[in-house]
Amino acid sequence: MKFKDKTVIVTGGAQGIGMAISLAFAEEGANVVIADIDEEAGEEHVTTIRERGGQAIFIPTDVSREDDVKNLVEQTIKAYHGIHILINNAGIGSSGTLFTRPMEEWDRVIGVNLRGPYMMAKYCAPELMKANPGVIINIASTRALMSEPHTEPYSASKGGLLALTHSLAISLGPKVRVNAISPGWIEVSQWRKKSQRREPNLRPQDLAQHPVGRVGKPEDIAQACLFLASPAASFITGTNLIIDGGMTVKMIYEE
Ligand code: NAD
Repeated sequence: MKFKDKTVIVTGGAQGIGMAISLAFAEEGANVVIADIDEEAGEEHVTTIRERGGQAIFIPTDVSREDDVKNLVEQTIKAYHGIHILINNAGIGSSGTLFTRPMEEWDRVIGVNLRGPYMMAKYCAPELMKANPGVIINIASTRALMSEPHTEPYSASKGGLLALTHSLAISLGPKVRVNAISPGWIEVSQWRKKSQRREPNLRPQDLAQHPVGRVGKPEDIAQACLFLASPAASFITGTNLIIDGGMTVKMIYEE
C-alpha cells in the first residue's frame, strides 16, 4: 500500500493505458480520481476498482475545456481534501494529411494533448505544492522524437508536452517533481470497453522492431508511473523516460 492516503488524478483513466495506471495506484492504496470524457467506461472502471477493494471516483471531464478542468479540481478537493499526484494521460491521435487536414483538427489535437495538460497543471498546482512533494507525470510519446508522414498535430503536441514538462519542473520545483514518459507501441485493445475490444494484428516484423521481442502492455507504463511518483524517484525531475522495448534505438540493418 505504497500510496495509502495519497490522491491521484488520472486523465483519460477510463480506458487503455490510463485504465492500467488508475488500477495500479488503487491497488497501492491511493484515492483515485478518473477524469475522462467516456462516462460509461469511467463508471465501469470505478466499479471494477471498488470490487477489488480500491478507492475510486469518476468525474466526467474533457481536459481541453477550462470549466471542466476547474470543476474536476474542485470536486477532487471536496471528495479527498487535496491532490498529491497528477497523471496527464488523456490523449488523442490526429487524422488526415498535411494537405487535406482542416485547421480545426490541429486545434482539436493540440487542445486535448497540450492545452489539456497545461490547464491541469495550472489548476492542480496549488494543491500539488501543498502536498510537497507533489508529482506530475505527463504521458508523451516516442512520436515526439521520431515521426511517420502526416502525424504533425500529434507529434507536435507530444513534443510540446516534453517542453512543458521541463518548464513546469522549473516553475514548480522544489515542491513538485514533473516528469514525462514516452511510450512506444503499447497494445491497449484488452484495456478498452468490451464493445471496442479487438484482437491485435501483430506481424513478425512489428515484433522484430523491438529488441525485447514484444510490444508494450499498459502495465509497463503503469509500473513506471508508480516508480516516478514514489520517494525512490525523489532526485528525478524534468526528465523523459522512454518506454518502448528499445524500438527507438534500433537501426534498420540489412545484411
Ligand atoms: P485510449 O484511446 O485507449 O484511451 C484514452 C482515454 O482518454 C479514453 O478513455 C478516452 O475516453 C479518454 N479521452 C480522450 N479524449 C479525452 C479528453 N478530451 N478528456 C478526457 N479524456 C479523454 O488511448 P491510449 O492508447 O491508452 O493512450 C493514452 C495516452 O498514451 C495518450 O496520451 C497517448 O497519446 C499516449 N500514447 C499511447 C501509445 C499507445 O501505443 N497506445 C503510444 C504512445 C503514447
